Amino acid sequence: MNFHGIVMYQKEYRERDMLIKFFTQEAGKRMFFIRGAKKRGFKMTADLLPFTYGVYVGDIREPGLSFINAAKDTTNFTKIGQDISKNAYATYIMSLLDMAIPDNQLLGSWYPRLFHALSLINDGLDEAIIANIFEVQMMSLFGVEPNLRQCVICGRTDLPFDYSESYGGLLCQAHWHLDPNRLDLDQRTIYYLRQFSAIDLTKLKTISVHEETKQHLRRALDMIYSDTIGVYPRSKRFIDQMTKWKPLDNSKKD
Ligand SMILES: [Zn+2]
Repeated sequence: MNFHGIVMYQKEYRERDMLIKFFTQEAGKRMFFIRGAKKRGFKMTADLLPFTYGVYVGDIREPGLSFINAAKDTTNFTKIGQDISKNAYATYIMSLLDMAIPDNQLLGSWYPRLFHALSLINDGLDEAIIANIFEVQMMSLFGVEPNLRQCVICGRTDLPFDYSESYGGLLCQAHWHLDPNRLDLDQRTIYYLRQFSAIDLTKLKTISVHEETKQHLRRALDMIYSDTIGVYPRSKRFIDQMTKWKPLDNSKKD
């Protein structure tokens, strides 16, 4: 069968073969066994590099490993491969999606979303922000659906907001007293979190966020992810080492 796929990663297997994991549109995440992939003269080397996408011909087996017989029409996100930061965030997005959805299960709208996220990063949009959008939208896949539309207590939308992990969403200023451990986010950060939850990645053309707000978003999402989702892929650890931003003052100032 023909399938559309995006290469997630390669793994050496035995002396001459490889295992290659794909996101596929037709059959979810799949591991493919590629016989002879490490032999000299192997024809599909470029088609199977990470951050390559396109149409492939293969046998999708269940259960067990699948096979690829040919690559029909493939393209590589070359700018992602060449840039350490783009590479790191693209890898992080893919590893989050890998953790959130079981293998062999259809990816639905997540396949086009992933494809567009990678395209946007490859085209030069801010990779950290694209990752943030993914992080916000993916929370529901991890079973956490924070209310980012309105105050979770009274439904108001006209007062300043803060984010409460224990209430699972926004609290308006009139209800801040209910959660002394709310995240103490500034209104600009809240604004972007709300935007990110609603953005259609497949229609996004441009985005630009001030550096300070980017750090606040990173801090907010790190807290939400570590406290309520509990997922920390190795690729994220790499990003944290790479960015080494200064920790921000977390004291409450009411
Ligand atoms: Zn309220």
